[in-house]
Amino acid sequence: MDESGASASGPPDAATIARWRAELARAARVCVLTGAGMSAESGIPTFRDAMSGLWSRFDPAELASEAGFRANPARVWDWYAERRAGVRRAQPNAGHLALADFAARRPGVLTLVTQNVDDLHQRAGQVDAIWLHGDIGADRWLDRCPRRAPCDPSRAAPGRPPRCADCGNLVRPGVVWFGEMLPDGALDAAERAAAACELMLVVGTSGAVWPAAGLASIARDAGARVLIVNPQASEIDAVAHAVLRGTAAVVLPALLRR
Ligand code: NAD
Repeated sequence: MDESGASASGPPDAATIARWRAELARAARVCVLTGAGMSAESGIPTFRDAMSGLWSRFDPAELASEAGFRANPARVWDWYAERRAGVRRAQPNAGHLALADFAARRPGVLTLVTQNVDDLHQRAGQVDAIWLHGDIGADRWLDRCPRRAPCDPSRAAPGRPPRCADCGNLVRPGVVWFGEMLPDGALDAAERAAAACELMLVVGTSGAVWPAAGLASIARDAGARVLIVNPQASEIDAVAHAVLRGTAAVVLPALLRR
């Protein structure tokens, strides 16, 4: 519901954008949560979009779980190699740039929390971000290295996947797979930012992946205004004061410009 008591969920009109732009300009603390939709206009497919979503063509249990990797390491490695190449080819879109510009203009105001594993926020110039689901460009060992000074995965013997020449430990991508813990401290930091913000802006997430999906409720329960930007319905729309049905690269520049 917006402040008039009506739910704002159509394409954003100029007055709605202007009202939220003013709120963003006034807020002393803004928390932004981004999901796969944030990078869709950069050409990186989302997981769930019906037509292009990755899960419509692949089984998540096989490609994004430790069990799936152990069962078929070469297949999962190759799939990630393809996704990594896609991320390297992609460029930040106008939405990434608008967020980075807002953060630079108003130091200390914006905390960016991302579920994305690409580096487009960083390449847009966003210096600080809380990465909830890891970094697709990073390598790590599948099993803990038993040495006192752990071997560096970048020195693994080449292969699909690369492996330790001594013990055979496999290299895996540094992302959080289904059923895995989030990186140390990341969820705490995100929850603190959500609880402390005056305005929470949620961009391009289905709201289906937990615990990230709970951040909007944490913000709302703590008294923040909550705004969602998403061209489609999400599972957390009901938590928001307003939902702007538009895309990140179109709506964010309008909301965040000077
Ligand atoms: P999701 O794929 O489940 O949902 C994508 C959401 O983005 C949908 O709600 C869709 O309506 C919306 N969307 C599509 N195009 C958009 C646009 N142009 N602008 C704004 N919104 C748009 O993604 P999720 O909720 O982030 O959760 C799934 C998991 O996917 C996350 O854990 C994330 O790590 C992972 N993922 C990341 C990337 C990436 O790093 N770019 C890509 C795919 C998946």
